[in-house]
Amino acid sequence: MIISENAVVLFHYTLTDAEGNQLDSSTGQDPLAYVHGHKNIIPGLEKALEGKQAGDVMVVTIDAADAYGERQEQMVQEVPRTSFQVEEMEPGMRFEAQTPNGPVSVVVTNVTDELVTVDGNHPLAGKDLTFDVKIDSVREASEEELSHGHVHGPGGHQH
Ligand code: ZN
Repeated sequence: MIISENAVVLFHYTLTDAEGNQLDSSTGQDPLAYVHGHKNIIPGLEKALEGKQAGDVMVVTIDAADAYGERQEQMVQEVPRTSFQVEEMEPGMRFEAQTPNGPVSVVVTNVTDELVTVDGNHPLAGKDLTFDVKIDSVREASEEELSHGHVHGPGGHQH
């Protein structure tokens, strides 16, 4: 079966950045499972997988704009130190920030006595990403999977 809209696709991947650093990999784990055509994965990768089938391998580099988007400097903000109910603050800590658009995960990038700098960009925003992909299997989604918009069973939701 060819990958097209509403196919359930299971694939293994290794993700590297433009410098060749490995960022993530499914090696030694279950393959990643998604429903094709439902924006479950980044747009550039979904597009690259269209028309492929089980057993296919490919290496594809995806521009930041078609991956996790460009970095947005307005997502970097300075917040008064006093607005955190935490004794110790240091770069690298993560918080959920409440915004008008819902909760956003932010990372602390700088701390002074007065101010904390937080960055709400996705950690992979602004990066061109290379995926080394091997397609494990392709099947039709069930009615239930389509109504939920995600895969059930191995590599997917267990409910
Ligand atoms: Zn479900």
